[in-house]
Amino acid sequence: MNNIEMSKILISRLNSLCKEIAFGEYKKIDTEGLFEMTSSESYPEELSQLAESFGMMMVKVEAREYSLEQTIDELEKAKVQLEDYSHNLEDMVAERTEELSIANSELKRLADLDGLTRIANRRIFDEHIHEEWQRALRESAPLSLIMCDVDHFKLFNDTYGHQPGDDCLRKIARVLQSCMKRAGDLAARYGGEEFATILPNTDRKNAFQLAEMIRSSIEGLKIEHKNNSASDYVTISLGVSSIIPKKGLSPKTLIEQADRALYIAKRDLGRNACALWREENLDS
Ligand code: GH3
Ligand code: MG
Ligand code: MG
Repeated sequence: MNNIEMSKILISRLNSLCKEIAFGEYKKIDTEGLFEMTSSESYPEELSQLAESFGMMMVKVEAREYSLEQTIDELEKAKVQLEDYSHNLEDMVAERTEELSIANSELKRLADLDGLTRIANRRIFDEHIHEEWQRALRESAPLSLIMCDVDHFKLFNDTYGHQPGDDCLRKIARVLQSCMKRAGDLAARYGGEEFATILPNTDRKNAFQLAEMIRSSIEGLKIEHKNNSASDYVTISLGVSSIIPKKGLSPKTLIEQADRALYIAKRDLGRNACALWREENLDS
């Protein structure tokens, strides 16, 4: 083969390499072979230099390609890590959201309870009596209320101390709570040593029976109270009122009537007693 033919082969080789590069098929390129071809002295100087420069360019292209592949590998790994992290994060967020929602309902529940006795507090009492009043008004149904007050509780505190006084209130609250059997029944701490129960759809007779049961259950706790004029034990007095709500009246009426009955239980019945509010009580 003469020099011209060899040069033609080299040029054709370079030409096909250019096409391969243009189509991105670097991997097929045999740079070793290319350098071998260019080291022959059978080519014109310029052609040898062109082939050598081309070979060097190829080496650089390959190095770039390699570093690009490495970068892509690293990016792939980072992507997998990121996906893992993102799933973990989603799980953590879901977990925290669940915990927060539980904590929220617990907070809401606690906000509705009296701190000492853990039964409904006064705010819930006020809300509940208004709701039940409206319902009873719509349905022309009776709504009953029992107001309870611990007898001679100041003397109990003075005799046994404030802490036993608190324990006593807790026990009374528990009894009241356990007597609430129907949906809508509510036992609440009204304030201090006073409690109240709201009894929807309950007439005066049944409300009075329940009051009597509560009274005897509290005495049945047998919490010593030697300075109680009504018993050797802690007792409560109860005032019962019952109304079929009408326009022009309000829960205030029901509360005033129960209060009045409670006053009668204390003053006229000597405590540890239940009194039912009646129209004739208006005179006393
Ligand atoms: P009465 O039979 O007429 O109701 O007499 P009483 O002594 O029960 O009534 P009074 O209103 O004179 O006293 C109520 C007492 O209740 C005084 C107060 O210290 C006590 N008391 C109110 N709230 C609490 C409480 O949360 N814990 C304790 N230990 N005592 C309380
Ligand atoms: Mg009182
Ligand atoms: Mg009292």
